[in-house]
Amino acid sequence: MQKKAGFYLILRAFEAVVLVLVLVLIPLFGMLGRASGEELIIGVPTDRCPVFYIDEDTEEIIGIGVDLMAEAAQNAGYTAAFVPLKESNLKDALDNPEYDLIMPFGSAVESSAGHYSIVTANLTQTPFVLVTKNNHVLPPMNSLHIGMIKSLGGAAETIETLYPGMDIYMFDTMDDCVEALRAGEVDALLHNSYVWSYVLQKPSYSDLSIEAAAMFSMDFRAGTLDSVEARKLVRRLNEGIDSIPETKKQAIVLDYTNRRLYKKTIVDTIYEIGPLLLAIAVFFSLIIVIIVMRLRYVHLENEKKIQKMIDHDPLTGALSHDGFVKEVKKLLMEHPDIPYMISFNNIRDFKFINDTMGRNAADEMLNFWISRSLEILSEEEAIGRLESDHFVVLRKIGGSEKMALDEQHVFEPLRNFFIDRGKDLKVRICSGIYVLMPSDYQQIDVEVMLDKARMAEKKVHDSKKDGYEFYNPVQWEKSKRTAYIISRFPVALRSKELQVWYQPQVDYISGKIIGAEALCRWKDEQLGFISPAEFIPALEEAGLIYDMDCFVWNRVCQDLALWNKMGKKRKISVNLSRVDIQKNRELPVYFSDLISKYDLTADQLCIEITETSYVEDPDLLISTTYKLRSYGFQVEMDDFGSGYSSLNMLKEVPVDRIKLDIRFLANIGNRRMGDIILKHIIMMVRDLGMEIIAEGVEEKEQAEYLKEIGCTEMQGFLFYKALPENEFTALKF
Ligand code: C2E
Ligand code: MG
Ligand code: MG
Repeated sequence: MQKKAGFYLILRAFEAVVLVLVLVLIPLFGMLGRASGEELIIGVPTDRCPVFYIDEDTEEIIGIGVDLMAEAAQNAGYTAAFVPLKESNLKDALDNPEYDLIMPFGSAVESSAGHYSIVTANLTQTPFVLVTKNNHVLPPMNSLHIGMIKSLGGAAETIETLYPGMDIYMFDTMDDCVEALRAGEVDALLHNSYVWSYVLQKPSYSDLSIEAAAMFSMDFRAGTLDSVEARKLVRRLNEGIDSIPETKKQAIVLDYTNRRLYKKTIVDTIYEIGPLLLAIAVFFSLIIVIIVMRLRYVHLENEKKIQKMIDHDPLTGALSHDGFVKEVKKLLMEHPDIPYMISFNNIRDFKFINDTMGRNAADEMLNFWISRSLEILSEEEAIGRLESDHFVVLRKIGGSEKMALDEQHVFEPLRNFFIDRGKDLKVRICSGIYVLMPSDYQQIDVEVMLDKARMAEKKVHDSKKDGYEFYNPVQWEKSKRTAYIISRFPVALRSKELQVWYQPQVDYISGKIIGAEALCRWKDEQLGFISPAEFIPALEEAGLIYDMDCFVWNRVCQDLALWNKMGKKRKISVNLSRVDIQKNRELPVYFSDLISKYDLTADQLCIEITETSYVEDPDLLISTTYKLRSYGFQVEMDDFGSGYSSLNMLKEVPVDRIKLDIRFLANIGNRRMGDIILKHIIMMVRDLGMEIIAEGVEEKEQAEYLKEIGCTEMQGFLFYKALPENEFTALKF
């Protein structure tokens, strides 16, 4: 037992000794090892594949330069440890004491801090080549602008001494160099051919190529700041370099240059397949655009369908309530000159018809109503079904033929719908008609119009009868006449229905006729004489007044020519509607042509423009007046005193004569006030140098008073009414 314990103790002691030896000797051996195979810290760039670069797997610095230097160091008894340079410039790196050596140098250079450096023997001769843009013709070597990366600062100095005329620009990275080359800032880039063989594999550099004609050969050395130790180091290393066989050097260079080291980045891939990507993107964009447009089209079509459903009554195809309101608004806006009416129609006892004849038969009748109506309605008219048997129609107002047509084509067959089909039931229709007023075209409120038509229909309905009723009978009569007048006008113009009469104007003192006003007269075969107060506004509204006035002016000139031939040179005033001036902006030319046509003189025509026209469109009126006067026509302001701004206007409007209608003044308060106003107006007009004529003179006292206050030219029933052409011709003056 004791023996065993003693052996155990010896064993423990031996263990302890081994442990001490391990702990103390291993570091000692390490120190010894370092002392014998001294480690050299060699700073190198890492962006020069395949000369110096980082191995992706081991993350160590490798490359031609590393292998050559490691071989040389080993031959010289050193171990080389390669570290990446922190400095972008080798000259800066020389001043950093962390490195024992820095690579690569072509020759010894001064450090950035101005210290001398020494370099080792040449490890290998590296070929330097110029790279240019494809097909770029280089200028002569001595005037080249060269781009290089900053870390080749040493090489740059060597080249500068070789080619003093060359300008060298330094850039931080290879990409910056390439950018400068592409921008034309430099003619070529200079780098060693090993690096180019790597860099030019980049697809996006395919526009660059090696300039074969220009080759440099550069030494490849390590360097450090000059010192006694440095010289010793370099000496030893040079021996190591010398002892690398040339075959070994070539093997190292071949090993790296044969590797396909360039790894394509995502950017390269995108660059390579860029056109394809673009085509795909365009293709998909087009598809998206087509899909969106198609969806939009479908959406619009659906909306149209929905709108059509909303706007139309599914049973009869007539417009629905909303559709009718919309359509009426549209039509009234498009045709403010068409006189319209709206009718609201309702079948009496429709429920009874439904119950006795059956729903289908009743529906058939409604469809019949609509299809019959649509056959006679024009594009500017509309029909709608508001609900069950309530039909509304927007119809142009026409003469009695139109009403007869409605009756024959729609209402009569409708009343007899069941009788014609062998059933003993008469359909009774109640209609309410609203004739649209001018204000309805200005402020279009279809609901209000429908309400009015409905109210008129209710009157019929409440009377327990059928038939129709007007909301505004007076308006209805008026619009019927207007519609008739408008439709009849072309016939009147061609026939003798439309005539020009003349109302003489006199000089009250001498009692002589001094001229006359031409006034249009219309004797219709049905209506008899129609007053100008009725047909002139109607024709103005319908845009026909210009045709009428042209007729009057031509007739007047014809008559004047006739009188001229008879040796009676007369002067006639013609009326001009404000609409005429808008219709023909060259009216003065028109009148001028007219008098030459009939061989008249301009002073035979006096043109009356009513005062209110000047107020409505002063600029156009004033310029027309100026032109008319420049042609020698007399211009007269008609109905002076009927408007509001008469006095103010006098100074702006260049007329020759004022025509004062004393009927306007007769309406003012009492006669005395009217007389005072008259007196002052006459004074003022005379002071302004214009002539004045009074019209509407009916009584002797009026004439006397006018004479007293200085107005002697007069027109009025006191003297003459308007006379037909033959009577006027016969007058002696
Ligand atoms: P106006 O140009 O002021 O013409 C004068 C109107 O007064 C004429 O009415 C004439 O018959 C009427 N009159 C003349 N003296 C008296 C009188 O003493 N008492 C009364 N109560 N009335 C008198 P008429 O012919 O009915 O014409 C009315 C208006 O129609 C004219 O007013 C004129 O503005 C327009 N008019 C007439 N003919 C034409 C025409 O050919 N072209 C155009 N554009 N307008 C015309
Ligand atoms: Mg007149
Ligand atoms: Mg007048």
